[in-house]
Amino acid sequence: LETPSAEAAGGRSKGALRVVQLYPRDMNIYGDWGNALVLQRRISWHGYTPELLEYNVGDPFPADVDIIVGGGGQDSGQLVIQDDLQARAAELKGLAEDGAPMLLICGLYQLFGRFFKTRTGAVIPGIGVLDVETHGTDERLIGNVKVSTPEFGEVLGYENHSGQTTLGEGVRPLGTTAKGTGNNSSDGHEGARYRNIVASYLHGSLLPKNPAIADFLIRTAAERRYGTFEPGHPDDRYAVLAREHAARRPR
Ligand code: GLN
Repeated sequence: LETPSAEAAGGRSKGALRVVQLYPRDMNIYGDWGNALVLQRRISWHGYTPELLEYNVGDPFPADVDIIVGGGGQDSGQLVIQDDLQARAAELKGLAEDGAPMLLICGLYQLFGRFFKTRTGAVIPGIGVLDVETHGTDERLIGNVKVSTPEFGEVLGYENHSGQTTLGEGVRPLGTTAKGTGNNSSDGHEGARYRNIVASYLHGSLLPKNPAIADFLIRTAAERRYGTFEPGHPDDRYAVLAREHAARRPR
């Protein structure tokens, strides 16, 4: 499925878009890296030039960030990154408030909230970008998930977490679960939306099966940097196949 970028095809790039994957060394499970790869490919299909950077503990923070992507992790991975994340809180909060699009999955969704109290009682402070809090339980929420969302239609993915997240007034849910559990075992909500942030428990990875979310991130990034977004012609054949396959999973 090699579709050349605008530049490779002899066209002119509409401009660069810089994607930064947060903490891939410690926070990158169940294929979350695939989200960054989908963004890279779809940015190019839309005629822009993708730049994909990794940010790990102790790195200098990249300039000119257009899209932030954060993955999930074990509680132990979350403990490893917690101090560095606190040191980056002001920059990340500034980007979020400025409308930078972000995709935050599971473990980093939790830590962009107020705190994650793990099932052993450790409290990992979050950076409070999202008005949510998370409490670990002995019940692990595992399985395929189908979410009805007002913005992106039916969102499909896979969850595996012990933390249960409740939303405060400052965020709205990404959607409501039609299959699986999502944020917690009581209110039927999955994920959170705030400014241009999409936060979700769904791995799989999420974006290959949900290109509408990828294009939301790319559109808002282009509008923020260039004032406008001119869509290209993405090839959705594999996304359609992946969605069909995921939708057939019994649980
Ligand atoms: N460690 C966290 C939890 O179990 C996040 C897990 C994940 O990212 N899948 O709730």
